[in-house]
Amino acid sequence: MNIIQCSICKKPFHSIGAKVCNECLQKMDQDFITVRDYIYENKHADIDKASEETGVSKKVIMYLLKDGRLIIEDSEGGGGGMLFCEVCRKPINTGRMCKDCKDKVANTMQKSISTGKPQQAASSKDSTPLRGTAKLNK
Ligand SMILES: [Zn+2]
Ligand SMILES: [Zn+2]
Repeated sequence: MNIIQCSICKKPFHSIGAKVCNECLQKMDQDFITVRDYIYENKHADIDKASEETGVSKKVIMYLLKDGRLIIEDSEGGGGGMLFCEVCRKPINTGRMCKDCKDKVANTMQKSISTGKPQQAASSKDSTPLRGTAKLNK
């Protein structure tokens, strides 16, 4: 059994992969609709305002944003200064990474798929230095 702390209400619960307990998940589904509708009507609202007006806690809104379920946009198309790319710290409006970094990750993954064989990380005899950076500029 895997018992973790719910990232919303901090209660310990049996997790089958989720970071949030069932109770909070169910509540969050309703909160999601409330906040989504609010943001739909108030396109440039920031999280503080959205939380205030909808009564949904900021924690929940942040969770939904990071989960990619909600998108918040200020007048510059950013996330109201609330959400940042976890890789390059650029302001973003949904998810955990900006588009550039997401593309980079997708590329890297595709490359390792297209080369076919998994990298021989287990073989300690292979002392080839890390390669790949030179490959990028072809
Ligand atoms: Zn909870
Ligand atoms: Zn980034």
